[in-house]
Amino acid sequence: MFIIPSDIWEDMIDHARGHAPRECCGMLAGTDNRVTRQYRITNILAKLNEAELARFDQPKLSDLKQLAPEERADIAFQMDARELSQAQKDIRQRGIELQAFYHSHTMSPARPSATDITLAMEFEHCRAALNLPQPLHVIVSLEDRDHPVMRAYRIEASRATEVPVRRQ
Ligand SMILES: [Zn+2]
Repeated sequence: MFIIPSDIWEDMIDHARGHAPRECCGMLAGTDNRVTRQYRITNILAKLNEAELARFDQPKLSDLKQLAPEERADIAFQMDARELSQAQKDIRQRGIELQAFYHSHTMSPARPSATDITLAMEFEHCRAALNLPQPLHVIVSLEDRDHPVMRAYRIEASRATEVPVRRQ
């Protein structure tokens, strides 16, 4: 069971709504299985223009170049590395742990996409070197605008397993 306090839960949904139709992203930290801090992180894919995107040459971005910026942000996110490292520093200073990454799906269900699983596995490859605990992946879906859905997953060996999440 992964526990997210009501105020953080609501802020994650506000964050998702504020960026729709683009995806938002962020980090959750705390102790045991209870979240105590939320970090909104800039989705750099939602901000890149064509020229900037052309400088990216990772295979995972090649398909994205063919999409309009709105469509691109809707299906993918990449966290701003500097904000991510600032959040990680704050997490260390507070003596809490990184627990999860979150992002929104504005038109699809709260399930990891193929891209989400690829990104999670890429993170797993460098996680040991960063000396970080294995994070959960939380998805906020706005597919049904009036009824946002939040689900958490553990992603291992390219497979996503749902972890129960409770608002408290
Ligand atoms: Zn996703």
